[in-house]
Amino acid sequence: MYKKIIETDIEIFKSLVGEENVYLDAETLEINSKDYTENLSFMPEVVIIPANVSEISGVVKYCNLNLIPVTTRGAGTGLSGGALPVMGGVVLNLKELNHIIQIDEQNLQAIVEPGVINEDLQNAAKAKNLFYPPDPASKGSCSLGGNIAHSSGGPKAVKYGTTKDYVLNLEVVLANGDIINTGANVLKNSTGYNITQLMVGSEGTLGIVTKIVLKLIPLPRFDYLMLACFENNIDACKNVAMLFQAGLTPSACEFITVRALQTSLSFLGKTFEYPPQSKAFLLIEFDGNHLNTLEEEALQASEILYASNCLEIYTFDSADQKENIWKIRRSIGEAAKHGNVYKEEDTVIPRFYLPELLSEIDRIEKEYNFRTIIYGHAGDGNLHINILKDDLDNDYWQHKIPEAINQIFAKCFELGGTISGEHGIGHVQRPYFHKFMDPKIIEIYKSIKKSLDPNLVLNPSKIWIV
Ligand SMILES: Cc1cc2nc3c(=O)[nH]c(=O)nc-3n(C[C@H](O)[C@H](O)[C@H](O)COP(=O)(O)OP(=O)(O)OC[C@H]3O[C@@H](n4cnc5c(N)ncnc54)[C@H](O)[C@@H]3O)c2cc1C
Repeated sequence: MYKKIIETDIEIFKSLVGEENVYLDAETLEINSKDYTENLSFMPEVVIIPANVSEISGVVKYCNLNLIPVTTRGAGTGLSGGALPVMGGVVLNLKELNHIIQIDEQNLQAIVEPGVINEDLQNAAKAKNLFYPPDPASKGSCSLGGNIAHSSGGPKAVKYGTTKDYVLNLEVVLANGDIINTGANVLKNSTGYNITQLMVGSEGTLGIVTKIVLKLIPLPRFDYLMLACFENNIDACKNVAMLFQAGLTPSACEFITVRALQTSLSFLGKTFEYPPQSKAFLLIEFDGNHLNTLEEEALQASEILYASNCLEIYTFDSADQKENIWKIRRSIGEAAKHGNVYKEEDTVIPRFYLPELLSEIDRIEKEYNFRTIIYGHAGDGNLHINILKDDLDNDYWQHKIPEAINQIFAKCFELGGTISGEHGIGHVQRPYFHKFMDPKIIEIYKSIKKSLDPNLVLNPSKIWIV
């Protein structure tokens, strides 16, 4: 149904964005054919790197009229294949839209372009004593546009929420090239349908985000960081719900298996001493403006943890020590993927049921004979399960492992959860999305898509199957 790009199209793209911003060379096509999803690669026919919203509008309008697929790319760190140009066509790479337009200290807001790297905004806000909490482990490399497209989270989501909780207003290019503002730069808005939140999490399938207004909050002055060690996964995860039931509100509560820790340590070339019988860890942080309160919360947490099978608790006092343990935690994802083929699942369930989910994963792992590296945002009930290919044969990997994933997802639904907490559906989770979502919901998706992108040119073959 899509048109192949021909020389005339290329000439028109050059006239719209300048010859130097239209790329056909093998190296650029190759880089834009991949993200961080498994070992997948889909070649675009052309890569366009626009400089501003009117160039984006011109390219999208032309593609829409000529039935050419357009896949928007942020920084390409996605884990569900959202930025992969599965149907060929144009990759619209937004890396040049990378300006922080304003940090508004009067209103505690930031106005940014979508190609800004998450950590750059965090640092710019911090320099003004302000805080942008959504902090994916990939914060040093992922873009805010990508974060919006997935409503990304991170360790701090457990206290502060995910990207969706910080988006106030968006400038969006629609499939027909129209440029709209979805809302207003306000903290509350009851003016009709919430188009801003419809765009958040829509993975580039409903529009292209070209400007973002974000909420900032005051920067907490102190934090208290501790690592609790356990003899097994179940003991570690039982404690997660108990901390919250006791009225504590940690600013991070991360689960790490010993295999995840060791993988990260060896990837980074670091060492870390812990009781040898430890098989699982919780990295717990409290933050706020009063150190005494944090110390009290940490003490209360320690009492709960020690009363329920915690072997040892380490605390990290200096900025260097804290940075070191966070680096170890944040590097697990990259370390797990280094030198192996993997499928990463992003399960999310109500946190009290984490032990039940982990027991079931353990059973499935044994039944299907694969290895996993498991870690994640336990406070949110959000676990990343990296299934490693190791030396499994290709046929088994492609046909039997999806059966195992189906069983994991079935358990998530049974426990009141779902298949993605923050990585999105993208390309690779589509079959599971169709299997587990209510067909009536998929019909609603279709009608929304049809009204905003009737020619299905925006990021085709993502989220749902046409
Ligand atoms: C090591 C590692 C750790 C990670 N840790 C986390 C984590 O802790 N939490 C988390 O949530 N995620 C995490 N991720 C996943 C990933 O970083 C996030 O999904 C991130 O938001 C993707 O941003 P990106 O700029 O790389 O987007 P891309 O991969 O380029 O694109 C992702 C999706 O966004 C769409 N998109 C990009 N820009 C726009 C735009 N301007 N308008 C419309 N659509 C757009 C694309 O079409 C695609 O569908 C991790 C990834 C890695 C590799």
